[in-house]
Amino acid sequence: MDDVPAWNEDKRGLFSVKSAYRVQLEVQRRNSSSGIATSSRGAIMGEREWKSLWNLKCPGKIKHFCWRLAHNSLALRLNLQGRGMDIDTRCVVCSYQVEDGSHLFLHCKQIREVWLALGIEKEREILCGTRSAAEMVSECMHMEEHKKLVIITLLWNWWNERNRRREGEKGRSVAELAFITTSQVHGFASVNARMSHSEPATRHRAGRWTPPERNVIKLNIDGAFCPRRKTGSWGFMFRDFEGEVIAAAAGNMP
Ligand SMILES: [Zn+2]
Repeated sequence: MDDVPAWNEDKRGLFSVKSAYRVQLEVQRRNSSSGIATSSRGAIMGEREWKSLWNLKCPGKIKHFCWRLAHNSLALRLNLQGRGMDIDTRCVVCSYQVEDGSHLFLHCKQIREVWLALGIEKEREILCGTRSAAEMVSECMHMEEHKKLVIITLLWNWWNERNRRREGEKGRSVAELAFITTSQVHGFASVNARMSHSEPATRHRAGRWTPPERNVIKLNIDGAFCPRRKTGSWGFMFRDFEGEVIAAAAGNMP
């Protein structure tokens, strides 16, 4: 098993981005003194890439998820087997291939369709060329800011989707997952613009999403139509005051 620091940086046992960054710097310091390359692009996450991750305008829980992905600490079935557990290593979603990070996040049949629906197929292909989860997250940190957010939000949603399915819940469609991801990224930009007053979310035609008051659920409905292809899509989503998705559905119009 790799030398990965245990999470004990916070007195209350809570994750914070700042403390994660401090731990990461310590890991790098230890690795470089033991001769393991940590800073070159294409190897594993270096200081620049971690900074890029921690500075992203999205909730800390998504950054924490990326930290765990990069350290192979997600409970992917191949990781569990690597820790000595005697388990079925087949993918939770397709039951066909071995479930490692590369398969689950980049190659599993349905997730490939979601990457395509989100218009980030080119980025998926680039990430397919990486050799480890750490390299995948590192490579992602060199992409354009908006793409980074879409990708890590998608990975996080897909991990939650995989866990829902493992618990026997009904799977969400490609259109639903793409819609949820796009809306969340839109929400991060809106919340951030509201907080910083410096980054207007002008590229989004639907305007800014603002969270509701505590204990109030907000419903957003969206639709789009492409005249050239004569196709369209629709979606709706209920979110709470923290922007957490409570329920969502989306589909295509033929
Ligand atoms: Zn699969």
